[in-house]
Amino acid sequence: MENNYLCPKCQGQLKIKKSIVFSAKTPSGEKGLIFLSPKIGDYHVTKHPEFKIKEGEHTELFCPICHENLEAKSLNKNLAKIILKDKKGVKHDILFSEIVGEKCTYIIYKNRVDSFGNDSDHYINFFGEGSEF
Ligand SMILES: [Zn+2]
Repeated sequence: MENNYLCPKCQGQLKIKKSIVFSAKTPSGEKGLIFLSPKIGDYHVTKHPEFKIKEGEHTELFCPICHENLEAKSLNKNLAKIILKDKKGVKHDILFSEIVGEKCTYIIYKNRVDSFGNDSDHYINFFGEGSEF
């Protein structure tokens, strides 16, 4: 079994073939679909050319199934949270930036947080006391 990605609200499958699919909204209110790579550390974004996202802007991400806002409210409004269901079927929270062009991903384990991407030090302080890095 390979990694799967689930919506934290409805537990729906967000990964279709080689992409994780999100519904997205830009600060100016434009809406579209965004496909992200399921490979941790790969920040390639696939979208329709008419759906314009700008470097540095906060693009809100929503579950395309239940339309829940995926913002990680309890941690930082710039981060989105979904569920990573690993090869063994174990679920972990996974967080990544909703800021266009910002490269950071965090996998939350019981006793530690694994961080990925060149910008991962931007949010590492938000993971609470007692975290080991
Ligand atoms: Zn959902």
